[in-house]
Amino acid sequence: KKLGIALLGLGKYSEGQLAPALQETQNCYLAGIVTGSPDKVDKWKRKYDIPDKNVYNYENFDQIKDNPDIDIVYVVTPNALHREFVVRAAQAKKHVICEKPMATTVEDCQAMIDACKQNNVQLSVGYRLHFEPHNQRVMELGQKEVFGPVKSIKAADSFKISVKPDDWRLSKELAGGGPLMDVGIYCVQGVIYTMGKEPIAITAKYGEKTRPDYFKTVEQSISWQMQFEGGVIADCVSSYNDEAGMLYGEAQDSWWRLDPAYSYKGIKGETSQGKMDFEEVNQQARQMDNFADCVRNNKPTQVPGEMGLRDVRILLAIYEAARTNQKVGV
Ligand code: NAD
Repeated sequence: KKLGIALLGLGKYSEGQLAPALQETQNCYLAGIVTGSPDKVDKWKRKYDIPDKNVYNYENFDQIKDNPDIDIVYVVTPNALHREFVVRAAQAKKHVICEKPMATTVEDCQAMIDACKQNNVQLSVGYRLHFEPHNQRVMELGQKEVFGPVKSIKAADSFKISVKPDDWRLSKELAGGGPLMDVGIYCVQGVIYTMGKEPIAITAKYGEKTRPDYFKTVEQSISWQMQFEGGVIADCVSSYNDEAGMLYGEAQDSWWRLDPAYSYKGIKGETSQGKMDFEEVNQQARQMDNFADCVRNNKPTQVPGEMGLRDVRILLAIYEAARTNQKVGV
């Protein structure tokens, strides 16, 4: 049987990516919705043929416990609200996928992991690039030392943000930070899955705020370095005022480069030996199918809550390094 997924938080990512991807999945389907916006319900019900009994709001959401149609809740709200909804989903005995970044504090991540353990449900983070062939190739090139040991890494993920000034992405309280939390996390991920291990120390520097009236509580841009045992350094940058999406690695005998590296479509890769030749996949469909398979067969996910916590810890270390202008151990 296909497992039923309920999307919680029907913003741009749910509407533009996850719901369409759920039309292509084999192991799961879009069974329900949870929303705080009653005006969205009719359109979603009609478009995706969702019955009334599988529609929830944030008040009656806990009743999802009694709904056998829903096996998995996918939390797609602003970052600081992930904790509340993941914990409530776990208490309702539903398996959970949580969007990235997992939360805005390590304590929140730990509470989410604990709630899922206590309720005997699986927890994964929406790290779609683990299911994308070019990025999977980079994991292999770096971790298996196909071209010898990695010597250095560069990563960048930036976009020109155009949201209204009161959008949650510009609120430190709701987002936890600016571009680092939103897209710089893909650089942190890319660097770690190239190396196959965690950094030991971080240095970082905030970029200049050329629009302080707009970027009131979050950074406009940030650059940072991740240092690894053995001396490898990864140089990274993330900004809300630029366009970039690149992951570059240099090993003893070759280099490789993904550019764009992190997009939903059109990822391209190259090594010193030539272009990479992989099919385009629906990353979100693969990610959700993989998680449904893990749930059905009681297998561990390759993108668990523990990985989400690891990354939040590193993101916060990057902020600490930028704030104190000191090297921070991880
Ligand atoms: P969005 O602003 O388009 O949607 C956010 C949704 O949350 C809206 O439907 C909004 O109504 C709802 N919401 C509930 N409580 C809210 C509150 N107090 N304030 C504001 N909105 C509230 O955002 P999005 O781009 O869909 O991002 C949602 C989550 O998905 C974020 O955690 C984001 O980092 C993540 N995301 C992941 C990817 C990816 O590629 N994996 C891509 C985009 C977004």
